[in-house]
Amino acid sequence: MTARHVPDGLPTHLQHFIDGELRDSADGTTFDVLDPVSNETYATAAAGGAADVDAAVRAARRAFDAGTWSERPARGRARVLNAIADLVEASDTRLAELETFDTGLPITQALGQAQRAAENFRFFADLVVAQSDDAYKVPGRQVNYVNRKPVGVAGLITPWNTPFMLESWKLAPSIASGCSVVLKPAEFTPLSASLWAQIFTEAGLPQGVFNLVNGIGEDAGDALVKHPGTQLISFTGETTTGQLIFRNSATQLKGLSMELGGKSPAVVFADADLEAALDSTLFGVFSLNGERCTAGSRILVQRSIYDEFVDRYATRARNIVVGDPHDPRTEVGALVHPEHYERVLGYVEVGKTEGRLVAGGGRPDHLPVGNYLAPTVFADVPSTARIFQEEIFGPVVAITPFEDEADAVRLANDVKYGLAGYVWTSDLTRGHRVAHAIEAGMVWLNSHNVRDLRSPFGGVKASGLGHEGGYRSLDFYSEQQAVHITL
Ligand code: NAD
Repeated sequence: MTARHVPDGLPTHLQHFIDGELRDSADGTTFDVLDPVSNETYATAAAGGAADVDAAVRAARRAFDAGTWSERPARGRARVLNAIADLVEASDTRLAELETFDTGLPITQALGQAQRAAENFRFFADLVVAQSDDAYKVPGRQVNYVNRKPVGVAGLITPWNTPFMLESWKLAPSIASGCSVVLKPAEFTPLSASLWAQIFTEAGLPQGVFNLVNGIGEDAGDALVKHPGTQLISFTGETTTGQLIFRNSATQLKGLSMELGGKSPAVVFADADLEAALDSTLFGVFSLNGERCTAGSRILVQRSIYDEFVDRYATRARNIVVGDPHDPRTEVGALVHPEHYERVLGYVEVGKTEGRLVAGGGRPDHLPVGNYLAPTVFADVPSTARIFQEEIFGPVVAITPFEDEADAVRLANDVKYGLAGYVWTSDLTRGHRVAHAIEAGMVWLNSHNVRDLRSPFGGVKASGLGHEGGYRSLDFYSEQQAVHITL
């Protein structure tokens, strides 16, 4: 086995960034950060508590009230956002190297995520300048217009999958809108988030607009949700955590954006372009180590092509290259953390009692150490199975046959989640009909992974609340005050 790759200059201690300063926790506590290839502690991180969150929220409020950012004209904010994008782009290789080390994502895919992060800032820079607001005239009587203003201090709570990119998807629209923010990154993967402080400072974001508090969700995250100084919470993570945050925000009636879990179906009809459907459904659950919210983790295949599909899918899955995340040939790296790895392995064992194992099913022989799992495929999985119903969030897929269109739609919708869906058919009328019938916030028809950033992103049912994307994101971070004038 190759030795693990350790990035040059890897930090051994990660701090908070509060009011323009790197700081440890007020009570000095820390937590350990592991890399998923060796599962050894490579750094400690400051473990934030209520006092640290309070300091960060107060700093954010002071910066907001100072008005140097919250009242800056859109063009001025856009310049800073573009400078951030330039800096992210210029350090994409370093970012990818650190992200891969911390998360176990294949390096080629981590690089793509770093570039997406830069693009998110560029996109919201453009959007905030192009934004217009409504005005109405009632002839001879009155004029009404919308006075848009940033809400205030936003708490941003993010998960460990593609952490830097998902942080950018909240940071870019919140600061573009003029809010000040406190980011609480996931405790499994705090490394890449530590780069934001320097990037924002260098790009000219005023002190105190961006603050970062590391820590455990139940401590730092909980304090951020309950702090009376945060008007908004934008959360991405598990559905159960989202439900808890919802309850904890209720007394203060906070604005909430919730991007939660998924168990998305890929529906393959007999008339589909089989080659394209195979490529896409393999990508859909095995890219990003299967640790992807929109993973097509249930594949529903029409009975007449079912056996051929399963054979070809299993053969391709067995050929996926699992290995050192830093090796550019690697297609599936190491799962993020030993706790998550154990959880995924638990599902693989459950799957062996619920379906027919046709690929993978455990640790690859050539990788005795680290959180590695061979791409795992179960066929003949009934809709009652736990591996059909529950989000596994790893390289594990359930394949289930269906008879006809009605059966396909029934199976697709027979879970509590509703994040994404994928439909493969050459009958476009049916394609649209099925896409519309699937209970999901986003459906891809004969395609995957293409998305214009102006379109809505979000889930229905247990997959989320509210939509991000384009102006929807800017609206979330803005008050839209109506001003009425009598003529
Ligand atoms: P998680 O819910 O365990 O943690 C997410 C974040 O919430 C972390 O920063 C964590 O520290 C924090 N947190 C935990 N408990 C908290 C509490 N009581 N109060 C406040 N904050 C708390 O999720 P995870 O395991 O990090 O991420 C994986 C999940 O995220 C999966 O379910 C996945 O589908 C989902 N996800 C959804 C999307 C989407 O856009 N819908 C995108 C990515 C990931």
